[in-house]
Amino acid sequence: MIASDLRSGVEQLGDMIAAASSIVPFTGAGISTECGIPDFRSPGGLWTRNRPIPFDEFVASKEAREEAWRRRFAMEATFAVAKPGRGHRALASLYRAGKVPAVITQNIDNLHQASGIASDHVIELHGNTTYARCIGCGQTYQLDWLKRRFEDEGAVPDCTVCDEPIKTATISFGQAMPEEAMQRATELAQHCDLFIAIGSSLVVWPAAGFPLMAKNCGARLVIINREPTDQDDVADLVIRHDIGETLGPFVGN
Ligand SMILES: [Zn+2]
Repeated sequence: MIASDLRSGVEQLGDMIAAASSIVPFTGAGISTECGIPDFRSPGGLWTRNRPIPFDEFVASKEAREEAWRRRFAMEATFAVAKPGRGHRALASLYRAGKVPAVITQNIDNLHQASGIASDHVIELHGNTTYARCIGCGQTYQLDWLKRRFEDEGAVPDCTVCDEPIKTATISFGQAMPEEAMQRATELAQHCDLFIAIGSSLVVWPAAGFPLMAKNCGARLVIINREPTDQDDVADLVIRHDIGETLGPFVGN
């Protein structure tokens, strides 16, 4: 059912949150746009101007790696200053209240962790862009060190342990989904009684399968997104409004 207006949507959401004992939020780009993080997939977004670099190309080509890192460092000012928005803070409030065991996110911006949710309770389906990993051995690297090397030498160094390339800790196109995160997200979706999809257009699979999975396992499903999604007709409540305005009333509860 689509909420007739923002106020009635917030009221119904409040009732559903009060009645639920285990709430699993699932977040997409829409929760972070008010924090200044662009939606890469939106019309006019970065990916319509800059073709994403697939994983196999990153591995095969030194030029592709340099381009990927050049783009990432160009975004650093945006990521470095971004602070959690009202949506993040509302979810952190529900987490502190013991209502939310963990958050599943498609975002790579680290803002759920910054809002106070323990890293272990943020299930990142597409990884995290605020640090880097060796694609061979998994050794982690801080971005500021890599950025200094990039500025000095024109390229990010290879892994100091195993000599394989270092990449942001994100999941690129063509890269395998993180197994443990997928497993934990599956368990959360199957065992919650309220699943809230927030700011996701629900078109990127397999991530988009989790709302349906939760619904099929008996949870109530809420979809909060500015635009319609393909799963609106199976949701118990659809709120087509701004994420910050919709979740703002739940900050600090
Ligand atoms: Zn390595």
